Amino acid sequence: MIINKLTLIIALAFIGCNGVSQEKKDSNKVDEKKETFAVTKTDAEWRSSLDDMQYYVLRQAGTENAFTSELLENKEKGVYVCAGCGTELFKSKHKFISGTGWPSFDREIKGNVSYDVDYKIGYKRTEEHCATCGGHLGHVFDDGPKKTTGKRHCINGAALKFVPTTK
Ligand code: FE
Repeated sequence: MIINKLTLIIALAFIGCNGVSQEKKDSNKVDEKKETFAVTKTDAEWRSSLDDMQYYVLRQAGTENAFTSELLENKEKGVYVCAGCGTELFKSKHKFISGTGWPSFDREIKGNVSYDVDYKIGYKRTEEHCATCGGHLGHVFDDGPKKTTGKRHCINGAALKFVPTTK
């Protein structure tokens, strides 16, 4: 009888311990990912190295007005680089006329663009930014050209600089 009681107490103690340690593990699980960038500048440095619209888009995640970018109609061959740090982001051969008023591409240069989720205007959108400096570029949607990728990278022209291909 006494042995049985002891066994029960010991067993309960173990169960108790397991319960506590389980809880601890769960409450410690804080899933906070923080992206780091190769190019970092202070806010003052960004302000002085960008014009007002570039700063508004890249550093404040703003959106330029539709049909205002001089790159919208650009059909020259070349590469579109980050206006903040010069990283190559999109190729001219992947640019298409979406009719939205913003430069649009069906794909990015892989690895040079990073993605995030934003709920800024009330619904979920996939935000995209330069993987090197973190500058905001625009958003990617699933209503792009069906014959290629089906993706529409809707990019602020102010976040880009065009570098023509030289022969
Ligand atoms: Fe950049």
